[in-house]
Amino acid sequence: MNTNNALILENVKANWQDKKAIHSLTPFTLLDYPDKTACILWFAGCNMKCDYCYNPEIVFGKGQLSFSEIFSFLKTRRNLLDAVVLSGGECLIHQNIIPFVTTIKEMGFLVKMDTNGSKPKVLYSLLNQNLIDYVAMDFKGPKVKFEKIAHLDAYSSFKECLKLLVDSNSIPFEIRTTYHSSLLNPDDIMMMLDDLCDSGYTNSLYIQNYRNYQDTIKPLPDSSALHPKDFSPNMTKIIFR
Ligand code: SF4
Repeated sequence: MNTNNALILENVKANWQDKKAIHSLTPFTLLDYPDKTACILWFAGCNMKCDYCYNPEIVFGKGQLSFSEIFSFLKTRRNLLDAVVLSGGECLIHQNIIPFVTTIKEMGFLVKMDTNGSKPKVLYSLLNQNLIDYVAMDFKGPKVKFEKIAHLDAYSSFKECLKLLVDSNSIPFEIRTTYHSSLLNPDDIMMMLDDLCDSGYTNSLYIQNYRNYQDTIKPLPDSSALHPKDFSPNMTKIIFR
C-alpha cells in the first residue's frame, strides 16, 4: 500500500470513529445483561416511532458521544465490566456499527444488543462474524397490528431476524413485548405466541406492561395491565417483567 492510500485509510478510520452516534451512556448496570456487569450505550435515533416509547429524547435526539469517546471510556473499564449493552433508539440503523462492535469485542467485552428486529442484513453480518453474545429483540405485535404499533412496515423483517436467531443455535436471545391495552389484547398475545412457536422459538415471551406515568412519544390513555390470570394456568410461555 502506498503512502497516499495509507493516509486515506487512516482518515476514513478517524472519520467513522468521530461520528457522534451515541446519545448517552449508563456506566454501570447489573440489571440489563443476565448475570453480568455491563454499561449501556443509548444509540440516538430509531426507524420506528412506537407511541408508547419511553425514550423520545433518544429517538428524536442527536448523538452526543462519538465512537472514539466510547472506546476511551471502555479502556478504563477493562477487567471491571463484563459486557457492553447496545440499546437506544435502534443501534442497527447506524453506519459503522460493525467496525464499532468489532473493536468492542477486540477489547474483550461481551456484547448484548437490544433491537427492534428491523435490520436482518446487519444482524446477519454481526452473527456471521460472531460479534454478538446476547440479543433482546422486540416483537411489537401480531402481523395485522405490527405497522400500526411500530409506525414501520417491518413485520417481515422481524420474522427474518427471528429466523436468523433461531437458526444460529448458539446465541442466547429473548423476545419481549410492551403491552398497552389500547394496542394489544390477550388474544393478540396468544397469536404472537403461536407465531413464535411456528418459527421455532421455544423460549418464553417476556411481557412488560406499559407504565402509565412515563412520558412517551405520543400521549396514550392509561393502560389496563395484563396479568398472569388473563391466561390459562399452564401457559408457561409468558413471563411478566
Ligand atoms: S420503543 Fe419503538 S420507537 Fe422506542 S426505541 Fe424501541 S423501537 Fe424505537
